[in-house]
Amino acid sequence: MFTRRSLTGSSSSAIKSHNLRAILLILLHHAPVSRVRIAQLTGLSTTTVTNLIAELVSAGIVAEDGLEQVTAPRGVGRPRTALRLEPESRYAVGVHIDVGSVHVAVTDLFARPLCIQTLEHSLDQSAEDVLAATADLVTDTIRSCGVDPARVVGTGVGASGLVDPYTGINVLAPNLGWRDVPVRDWLAARLKLPVFVDNNVRAMALAEALFGAGKDVYVLAFVYARVGVGAGFVVGGELYRGGAGAGEIGHVTIMADDGEPCRCGNAGCLETLVSEPAIVRLARDIAAGDPRGILAAHLAQGDTSTINRIFDASRAGDAATRAMLEDRARYMGIGLANLVNTLSPELIILGGIFARGEDILFPVVTDTLRQRAFANLGESVRVQTPTFGRHSGVIGAGALALHAFFYEQAEGTT
Ligand SMILES: [Zn+2]
Repeated sequence: MFTRRSLTGSSSSAIKSHNLRAILLILLHHAPVSRVRIAQLTGLSTTTVTNLIAELVSAGIVAEDGLEQVTAPRGVGRPRTALRLEPESRYAVGVHIDVGSVHVAVTDLFARPLCIQTLEHSLDQSAEDVLAATADLVTDTIRSCGVDPARVVGTGVGASGLVDPYTGINVLAPNLGWRDVPVRDWLAARLKLPVFVDNNVRAMALAEALFGAGKDVYVLAFVYARVGVGAGFVVGGELYRGGAGAGEIGHVTIMADDGEPCRCGNAGCLETLVSEPAIVRLARDIAAGDPRGILAAHLAQGDTSTINRIFDASRAGDAATRAMLEDRARYMGIGLANLVNTLSPELIILGGIFARGEDILFPVVTDTLRQRAFANLGESVRVQTPTFGRHSGVIGAGALALHAFFYEQAEGTT
């Protein structure tokens, strides 16, 4: 089980923090907006709004920006000063720890990346060495981006595997060879910044909910398929983490009998059917059986990744490859139908290799989802590719720090 933060009682600073959060979220989602409108939307008194806005303006976080267009009843009313967030008044750092590489971005308050740098690492390096190099890269990225370090609100880290967000420990990351790595404490000691650590797919889900396609969505699921298959859920602006780590959709059993063994120890898991290694293995079997075919010719060309060459062979008319990929999409559709029946999200973001093969895979995924989901649950869910494309990892990581800025406001903000 996760170690949970304890609940604290209400105090004046907790109330102020709560009110600041409400105002900042209105500014994030509804700006430009007047003080009066903020008061209406939050239910706070105009005096409270005016006082807190004054603090945010003096801290440079909120700017007055022209006039709000007001359509008043009976055609009367006077224009009001519109307010908006100043995007570069504060910054966040996002660190995406991927297998073989670490990506670091400095973002503005809207999670837009201003500078991105990458370092390669090998699986022979210890976790401590990788994190020490990561801390150096964060410091270098802040400096080379020309950003005042005092305006960086924190560093978010998205890591693969089982991550305890409350202790910042990467409990188990088989793809990295990590076990019980105290990511938060090691980085925080070197960076002297607040560090927020979570699973990388959960971080991507959070970014979509706060800054992407999920801004107006109450229940959002992000499913990411590459080497593994994982999911993150956001409900009402907050990550749903379950008792000990929700989102292991890759290990939902699809083939109850005769399934391929999975690295989790089970067999017939979704991951054994739709992950990148599974698809590459099936493609190599097809090419071996048809060495003069379109797929074999594409696999022999080396200018793009293997999975892209497989998609290209399908686009070029290789029927066996197309059929194999559509089978993968059908299995993913079954997995998503199970997810929809359990959670009923309004929006599913499907990323990783499925986004790269969107034209081939998505029609079959959505058809299967609609057929298999209970009653009309499948009709009411939208399925789309990630808003932030190949930057989903770093922007998601940055969103962990920005979530703390917007949602865990304390007096320290101003
Ligand atoms: Zn499994």
